[in-house]
Amino acid sequence: MKIPASFRDQKAHAAELRFKLAQWFRLNGRDLPWRRSPDPYAVMVSEFMLQQTQVVTVIAYFERWLKRFPDFNTLAAASEEEVMHVWQGLGYYSRARNLHRAAKCVVDEHGGQLPDDPAAIARLPGVGRYTAGAIASFGFDQAAAAVDANIARVLARLGNLREPIDARAGSDALWAMASDLLPESGGREHTSALMELGALVCLPRKPHCALCPVRDYCAAPDPELLPVKKPRRASVRIDENCAWIVEAGALLLEQQSGTRWRGLWKLPALNGESLGEPLFKIEYPFTHHVVTLRVYGKSAEAELMPGQRWFAFKELAGAAFAAAHRRALVALLPLHGLPASLLDS
Ligand code: SF4
Repeated sequence: MKIPASFRDQKAHAAELRFKLAQWFRLNGRDLPWRRSPDPYAVMVSEFMLQQTQVVTVIAYFERWLKRFPDFNTLAAASEEEVMHVWQGLGYYSRARNLHRAAKCVVDEHGGQLPDDPAAIARLPGVGRYTAGAIASFGFDQAAAAVDANIARVLARLGNLREPIDARAGSDALWAMASDLLPESGGREHTSALMELGALVCLPRKPHCALCPVRDYCAAPDPELLPVKKPRRASVRIDENCAWIVEAGALLLEQQSGTRWRGLWKLPALNGESLGEPLFKIEYPFTHHVVTLRVYGKSAEAELMPGQRWFAFKELAGAAFAAAHRRALVALLPLHGLPASLLDS
C-alpha cells in the first residue's frame, strides 16, 4: 500500500487536524436521529439503511423501523414478510434480509447484545469492513477506522491520492490513511466529523474549501479531480414489460422468486407481447443496467401462472412491493378511482 508522501507529512499534524475538525463538527454537525442515541442496535440499522441510500430518504424509514422493531429481539422474532414490508421503498432488499439474519445471530449467539469486538461484528451477515468500523465507532465509541464515500473523498483530497480508490492499491492507501488519523479514543466524534465534512463541505463538485476547517492540511491542488476512480462500465439497457390486470375489484400480482427480490410482489410479467401504448413507463437503475418498466392494460387469462394471486384493493397495504412496481401502482390506482394512500399501512 502506498500512502501519498503529502499525507505522511500531514500525519505529523494529525492532532491539530483532529482538533480543528472536532471543533467544526460541534458547531456544524447535523442533528440526525441515529446520532441522538449511541444504541448499537439503532446504529446498526442506520448503517444498513444508509448503504446505497441518502440521509434525507433514510430518516423517515429509520424512525418507522425503530417503532416497529425497537431491538434485536423484536427484529429476530419478526417474519420475513413483515421485515420486507417495513423496508419496502428503500430498495436493495438484500440489506433488509441481512439485517434480519444478523438480528437472529445476535439473539442466538450473543444473547441479544451486539458484541463490541469489531472482528465479531464483521462476522454478522451483511456487515463489511466499513459497516463493522462504523458500528464500532458510532455504537461503542471505539477508535476504529471506517471509510465510506464521504470519508474517501476527504482523505483522497487531504493526501492528494492519485491512485483509483476503487482499485486495491488506492483502497488500501485510504484505509491506512484513516487508521493514521484515528485518535486514541473517542472514535464516534472523529468519524462523524470526517463524514460530515465530506457531506457538507468537501463536496464532490465545488467543495467549499474557503470554509474548510482543515484546509491548512489539504494537499489537493485540484480537489474536483479527486478522488480518482477506474473507468465506468457502460450501462446496459433492459426492457421489463408487465401487465395491469384488474377484475372485480382485485389486481393480479406475481411474487418474485430470485434471490435479490425474493418475496416481493410485482405486476405480472409479459413475455414478448405487443400491447400498444403502455399505461405507465419508468426507467430505473439496477447495478450497471438501466431498466425500462412498461405496464400495459390487459384482461385476465383463464388460469393463473405459478406465483400469481389476486389482491382485493383493500389488501394491497399488506403487501411489500419492488420499488418501481410500487410507483406503477401509485400512478395507476387512481384510474380506478382509488387513492395511492391505499398502499400505506
Ligand atoms: S480544503 Fe477543500 S478539498 Fe481539501 S479537505 Fe477541505 S474542502 Fe476538501
